[in-house]
Formats: sequence, C-alpha cells, structure tokens
Amino acid sequence: MSVRTIAAKALDEGKGILRLAPNWVPRVFCVPGRRIKLHPDDYYALGGERGGIDERWFASTTPADNGPLTAPNEGLSFIVFEDKANTEKVLLRDAVSELKGELIGERLWNEYQKWPMYSKFFDNQGPLPHHIHHRDEHAKLVGQVGKPEAYYFPPQVNNHGGDFPYTFFGFEPGTTKEDVKTCLMNFSRGDNKLTNISKAYRLEPETGWDVPPGVLHAPGSLCTYEPQKASDVFAMYQSLVNNQIISEELLWKDTPPDRKGDFDCLMEVIDWELNVDPEFAAKHFMRPTPVKDMREMEEQGYKEMWVCYKSRAFSAKELTVFPGRTVTVRDSAAYGFIMMQGHGTIGQWDIETPALIRYGQLTHDEYFVSEEAAKQGVTITNPSKTDPIVMLKHFGPDNPDLDVS
Ligand SMILES: [Zn+2]
Repeated sequence: MSVRTIAAKALDEGKGILRLAPNWVPRVFCVPGRRIKLHPDDYYALGGERGGIDERWFASTTPADNGPLTAPNEGLSFIVFEDKANTEKVLLRDAVSELKGELIGERLWNEYQKWPMYSKFFDNQGPLPHHIHHRDEHAKLVGQVGKPEAYYFPPQVNNHGGDFPYTFFGFEPGTTKEDVKTCLMNFSRGDNKLTNISKAYRLEPETGWDVPPGVLHAPGSLCTYEPQKASDVFAMYQSLVNNQIISEELLWKDTPPDRKGDFDCLMEVIDWELNVDPEFAAKHFMRPTPVKDMREMEEQGYKEMWVCYKSRAFSAKELTVFPGRTVTVRDSAAYGFIMMQGHGTIGQWDIETPALIRYGQLTHDEYFVSEEAAKQGVTITNPSKTDPIVMLKHFGPDNPDLDVS
C-alpha cells in the first residue's frame, strides 16, 4: 500500500483520529530524570554513546538534530495502522503531506504546508545551560525560523523535582549589555557566570511559563510538557552548568558563518527589553485557566483548562473527564494529545495510560485528531468508578478558540 492509501485508510477507519507510536529521543550529556515511564532498563536503549533517553516527542513532523549518530527518522512521529494481521507505520509528516487540509485543516495547510509545531516531555535530572532561541529575523540568516516555546509541569510525571527545580529567565533588571557581553567573552574560560546576573524562579507542578524567542532561559529539572514551534534553532550562552563544561561550538551554533567569533552578533540575538523586563514573571508565568464557565463544564462531566496560552505559535489544554462520565468535546482546530491519567475510549479507540513502556513497544496513549473530527466533537467515555481521564492537547498556530491578548 502507498503512504497515501495507508494514511487515508487510517484516517477513515479511525474516524478522523490517528493513533501514534511513542517517539523517544536520546540526548548526549543529558541524565534522564526517569519520570516518563520507560522501563528502567531502557533509558539507555540506544547505547551509551547516544546518551540517555530524556525526551518523548508528540505529534512531531520535525526531525531531531542529534549530530552524526542521529538515526533516520529520529524525532519524527509515526502513525500506527493495524490492517487485519499487519501493522503498518507511516510518518505523520508524510500523512500530513498526503492528506493536507483533510487532516490539519485548510487554514493551517494553506499557510504552512506542514504541521508547524510539536510538543514533548522533557525529563532531565539536572538543569540546562542558560540558552536562547533566535527570533525569525536572526534564525532566517541560517535558514531556520524563530522558536517560541512554553512549559507546563504535569503533576502525573513530577513525583520528584530533579536536582534543580528552578528556572532562570533573562537578566536581573539593571543588568547592562556590557555585563552580558563580558560573560559571553569569558565563555571559553571555564565558568562564565552568566546566571549570576540572571534570576531563577521556583517551578511549581500544575503551572507553566511562556518563553518567547530572544529570551535567555536555563530550564530547571521538573519533568516538562513543552509545546513549541517546529524549529531547532538555539545557542548556549552559559559555559558551565551542573559541573559540566558546555562546548564553545554550541555558543556559535546558528551564528551565520561570516559572523562566527563576533560577540556583537550574539548580543543582537538577545531581545534586550524582554530579558530585563521587571514584569517578566507577571507577563509570562501561566496558571491554568478554564476554557469556559467551570460550572457548565463540571455539570457536563468534564473540566478543560488552557495550560499554554500566551503564544500565537501554539497552544495547549488539559482535559479531565470525570469517572463514570461520557462527554463530547469540540475544538475548532486539529490537535495531538497524550494521555496523562486514566483509561477509556475516544470515538472508537481505546485510550489508556501505561504505567511502564518498553522501548519500541506500542501504546494507546497518543493520538492526532483531524480538524474536521475536532470540529464535529470527539466523544470520550470514562468507565472508571474512581480514576479521572486526564489528557494534554497540543494545537498549532492561532487556535481560533484562544484569544491571545
Ligand atoms: Zn529552550
């Protein structure tokens, strides 16, 4: 069967809902936090050289940029289609190319000709270096697009906070450009002390942050659900974190070749006003907020909250279906979702939340819902007498249901 045939059959037989396979991504130098349900023997399933698995990517049509050892299709989500005795797998990216607006909606297809976001679990035992994602104008110089991202810390995967559950954002107000440039020029001299002039915030499960491009950030060690624009543009501006030296190559990653070694170029990437904004937390911290009247939702048997809602590039919701209830939930846009808790059905599919997953094993915890199916409404049944169904839903740009003000 051709990709088109399989994708069309899968969409047809899934009544607009595609099942996805778990998509694990290793990172060299990252120590897994072991909160994303892989079997304890499988966190190094790809071998020590590839690093530990500390990410699972969702609804991804974006390959992982993991250096020369990167496996083909690493980072790309597969659709699983079971046809009689055969299990067929097709890349979500290829299914989007074949089915176009039928899958992601004409609005997104016409503008992007692809699914322009993905989400992931980021599960690191330690903190990450203070780093930056370029804005469009700077990313363009190396053939990429700017990268906004956002964080939500789901309670189901945060029984421990890791070694450093605090995240630095930007710089302490009053910091001068000269202070920052001095740190950057000290990059190759051991500890450049960049976070000494920054400010860390304690991370709290069931809350999140919005991180616009151009803002320095050093993510802390909570297990993070992270919707983001499909782009891998970044540069590491901190030279030492968690007693590990960061390669200077990563400072200059995504600097145009003719400007490598030019510290002013690194300074231009920083959105200065955003980084020294004394109101940064007030503007970018996110507490979940109901998508509509809470009482009305509760009477119908569910609760739905916006968890990432300050970016135009993507958005995310947390849907809870109460025990013993059947609900029909409508959205105006296509989305991917990952199960966080509970079990039941969505349309004709089983949904369940595994406690343990072997590397390579298939699951029934991740799906992609077409725009048409989302608009018609999906029916979810929770047969449990006690356990809620909880899922996180990730949407593409300019969600019509979201008013970003
Ligand atoms: Zn980042």
